[in-house]
Amino acid sequence: MDTIASTPTHCPYCALQCGMNLTPLAAGGVEVAERPDFPVNRGALCGKGRTAAAVLSPAVRLTSPLVRSGGRLVETSWAAALDLLAERLGSTREAYGADALGVFGGGGLTNEKAYALGKFARVALGTSQIDYNGRFCMSSAAAAGTRAFGLDRGLPFPLEDIPRTGCVILVGSNLAETMPPSLRFFSELRENGGTLIVVDPRRTRTAEQADLHLAPRPGTDLALALGLLHLVVAEGRTDEEYIRERTTGWEEARAAAMALWPEQVERITGVSVPQLREAVRLFCAPESAMVLTARGPEQQSKGTDTVGAWINLCLATGRAGRPLSGYGCLTGQGNGQGGREHGQKADQLPGYRKLDDPEARAHVAGVWGVDPDALPGPGRSAYELLDALGTDIRALLLMGSNPVVSAPRAAHVEERLRSLDFLAVADVVLSETAELADVVLPVTQWAEETGTTTSLEGRVLLRRPAVAPPPGVRGDLYVLHELSARLGVEKGFPTDPEEVFEELRRASAGGPADYSGITYRRLAEETGVFWPCPESTDEVAHPGTPRLFLDRFATPDGRARFAAVAHRATAEEPDADYPLLLTTGRVVAQYQSGAQTRRVAELNAAAPGPFVELHPRLAARIGAAEGDPVTVTSRRGRATAPARISSAIRPDTVFMPFHWPGEGRANTLTNPALDPTSRMPEFKSCAVRVEVVGPP
Ligand code: SF4
Repeated sequence: MDTIASTPTHCPYCALQCGMNLTPLAAGGVEVAERPDFPVNRGALCGKGRTAAAVLSPAVRLTSPLVRSGGRLVETSWAAALDLLAERLGSTREAYGADALGVFGGGGLTNEKAYALGKFARVALGTSQIDYNGRFCMSSAAAAGTRAFGLDRGLPFPLEDIPRTGCVILVGSNLAETMPPSLRFFSELRENGGTLIVVDPRRTRTAEQADLHLAPRPGTDLALALGLLHLVVAEGRTDEEYIRERTTGWEEARAAAMALWPEQVERITGVSVPQLREAVRLFCAPESAMVLTARGPEQQSKGTDTVGAWINLCLATGRAGRPLSGYGCLTGQGNGQGGREHGQKADQLPGYRKLDDPEARAHVAGVWGVDPDALPGPGRSAYELLDALGTDIRALLLMGSNPVVSAPRAAHVEERLRSLDFLAVADVVLSETAELADVVLPVTQWAEETGTTTSLEGRVLLRRPAVAPPPGVRGDLYVLHELSARLGVEKGFPTDPEEVFEELRRASAGGPADYSGITYRRLAEETGVFWPCPESTDEVAHPGTPRLFLDRFATPDGRARFAAVAHRATAEEPDADYPLLLTTGRVVAQYQSGAQTRRVAELNAAAPGPFVELHPRLAARIGAAEGDPVTVTSRRGRATAPARISSAIRPDTVFMPFHWPGEGRANTLTNPALDPTSRMPEFKSCAVRVEVVGPP
């Protein structure tokens, strides 16, 4: 078969950002092939990555703007769609004020798009009401990392350090399903004599590979971490010199941990004291060790403090800011890291600057050529923004997100979206959220455009176009350019990604996430550049910073800060009406809300729909056999899916993957109780009851 030259680029899905080669085929379509030169995945791809090109097909995607007419979405021209959208944004602003306009972004948008979207909201619309779906992803880890270290970069070291450390505690992460190629780092760790401890209420495929699996009740990871710290102190395993030289706040954190006895921890978590002691022994024995968290401990209404408790464990044992040691967050979405650095978050400006910091406002306003006093202040967090739709917020522009499936209390969010005066969605496919829109804009995707992403390692990468988009499809930057012009802002929204990146470099210069020394040329020549990477003042370019905190932490005094955190219950504990806990998560063949992966035949065949995983004892109690439809009910609604019976889950817990809409939508059930600091909803734990669906 005739082929054209291949293009090295990166997967559109998760934050591992695996390298791949794309080759357009003369007969049509695109071939995805291994790219062994990229050090993170060394050619390996999971099923999602291997089949990613299927979503490029016009057969499964949007190829024309749509407008609602007579209750239906019908094709229209770009000019008509943009005219209508600009007119409705303008008239809503005139009637209700700028904060009646909402903007909702996504962790899959490139850095350039995230940057431009944040600027568009604050400069072209003048609204403070912008946030993005990454709030639902790693915001608790970001808040805890910033509190402890003065800086949040998911992993402060490259993945290649993992095989050389002595022990890793992996908390609430099912890498075997979410990012399978990363498992090799943990296999190599064990081959090198290191140990792996997995903390997860389910015996997942990841937990099966562990030397020790701890299975706490959902929502009790904070107590578990406190119990481990208690034993570290009681057994004299703290690193007193490190604590003295490199940290502050130890006495308060120590007192908080010592207030909770291991026997109490056993009662709260269900993890036995001997298991706790074994975990402490494995973690403290080697010279170096790491704690890595993911959504399990983070997606809780106490997520920030839960991650803080795990960071405390690292600090008390001298395991942060030292070679081959530290705390890291495994960010989930493709550009979850970059997405939170460049201004689409409600409280952030580009460069990971704080929106309420006068110096930061002055710097960014200078780059944007606007009056700093004219920049809006911080707005609502993602769930709070969605909850305000139809009341305080009358019109919404949504880019690259599908909250009808992915938001907590999803039926309520869907109802709020329906109540809007005007909803516009820019997306690749007609997602469940786009189906509700008044205007839908079909936009280009990963293999059709240039742009940068920042992986979970803080490695900035260049995506390159391999194919032309279908006629009728335009870029997100084009959308923002055209809308801003129609709203009377003629300059400042270029359509060329490199031009946007050049401005992003200036806006980030001197900030915590400094990209000023990174250029497209460098990214094309290197296998990514780790931020911070300031622009060099001499002839030698700054090499980037793969490892953070080795000399000092990014706090004003250079010391890491312990957090005095105490155990507290989840927002919703089981009771007589709702006696079980629901926890939600992912399966290997689907990605996030499934908007893209549910359109890929091979992935759908592997994971065709939702299920309710329950323990054999629970199944026997309610009379459920494998495959029987069961209904899960929480205080927010009901979801029905086939039973999947497995002794891998605790008898007091049921699990549902959240990738599907409709009657099996797991997020119909989840609790929007928010963490007070990160504003993360409690996806990982809510009280439910489970019943077999009777005959009609
Ligand atoms: Fe893509 Fe993530 Fe799979 Fe790699 S692990 S191929 S980045 S979905």
